[in-house]
Amino acid sequence: MPESIDPFEMALQQLDKAARVLNLDEQALEILRQPEKILQVSIPVRMDNGKIKVFTGFRVRYNTARGPGKGGIRYHPDETLSTVKALASWMTWKCAIADIPYGGAKGGIICDPKSMSQGELERLSRGYIRAIADFIGPEVDVPAPDVYTNPQIMAWMMDEYENIVRHSAPNVITGKPLEIGGSEGRGDATAKGGMYVLREGAKRVGLDLSKATVAVQGFGNAGQFAVKFVQEMFGAKVVAVSDTKGGIFKSDGINYEALLDHKRKTGSVVGFPGSKPITNEELLESDVDVLIPAAIEEQITEKNADKIKAKIILELANGPTTPEADEILYKKGRLDLPDFLSNSGGVTVSYFEWVQNNYGEYWTAEEVYEKLDKKMTKAAHEVFDAMDKYKINPRTAAYVISVKKVADAMKARGMY
Ligand code: GLU
Repeated sequence: MPESIDPFEMALQQLDKAARVLNLDEQALEILRQPEKILQVSIPVRMDNGKIKVFTGFRVRYNTARGPGKGGIRYHPDETLSTVKALASWMTWKCAIADIPYGGAKGGIICDPKSMSQGELERLSRGYIRAIADFIGPEVDVPAPDVYTNPQIMAWMMDEYENIVRHSAPNVITGKPLEIGGSEGRGDATAKGGMYVLREGAKRVGLDLSKATVAVQGFGNAGQFAVKFVQEMFGAKVVAVSDTKGGIFKSDGINYEALLDHKRKTGSVVGFPGSKPITNEELLESDVDVLIPAAIEEQITEKNADKIKAKIILELANGPTTPEADEILYKKGRLDLPDFLSNSGGVTVSYFEWVQNNYGEYWTAEEVYEKLDKKMTKAAHEVFDAMDKYKINPRTAAYVISVKKVADAMKARGMY
């Protein structure tokens, strides 16, 4: 694994760089370099063996100048406050670039969900909501799923919140199951939104996606649907896929349905018939047209950036590329479509879900995708325009647009 840098430090480096391009007011930058509020909680949970285990959870509200906090909750053994702060800042920029009326927030619990039973997960999820109930709310801070959390967990959380406030409140959390106020299209929204950005990126660099080869790192919520959609929407050929257990390579293409079936049966993509095993490094450096990091942070660093062969990198994970790697990729002429643009489809459909909850009126999947396509396409072109205008890499371009929007909202409020 590459040497890691502190995630929040990395987020601040990115912000500072954009502030320099924008010539941002010093006082605005000072505000934007700090989260508004940080909450740390201890959650005692009765485990299946009868013993109490105390888990640590966080919720960080980064900025609310443009609207309520918004962002997912991660269940991860390596969760740290610094990671949650970084992710909360990225949510702020993500909601701004997607042009949805939210600020940014994020939550996390240090736990290993893979080793916990459903009952333990339910008690942990309900305990977390009891601990943070005063800190969230439909007009205050609206959580959602993220790494290792899912619609079932959102359902328990909504139910617990409603028990506390004694009234219906589906708009307190997004990413819920359809039966209780979820939105059509939310489940695969992150990957779907990314596809619209990829389509526009391919036009920009003149890549024919119907002839393109693709490598996808991660086979979770984002990665799985990315494998599906690049085949279904563009006829591209997926030749490499990985999950936490390892990677596979198959030069004549990996069929999505067959891979899903294999993963369901064996618990991993590894050992897929006809494929050869590859390492995580080999996957990232494989000779493909499109690379889709859809797993975790800090995968493309100064150590491997110059070995990346893909013409386009579509970042569906949060924070997969370090600032040094950004510059290397840019100089080598790779188009690295940055995380908070590329994966903003998830939070955009979360916003659609919240709007539908507020109105009590529900849209079809087609309506959701059509609205999503419009928003993603517009955001992608704004980023391309800023790249050309300032001659900067795509991430800094995305920052320039979103930081300006947040700073303008703060200015309008008289915050500086
Ligand atoms: N966890 C997703 C993200 O990082 C979605 C957040 C949301 O829907 O609020 O963008």
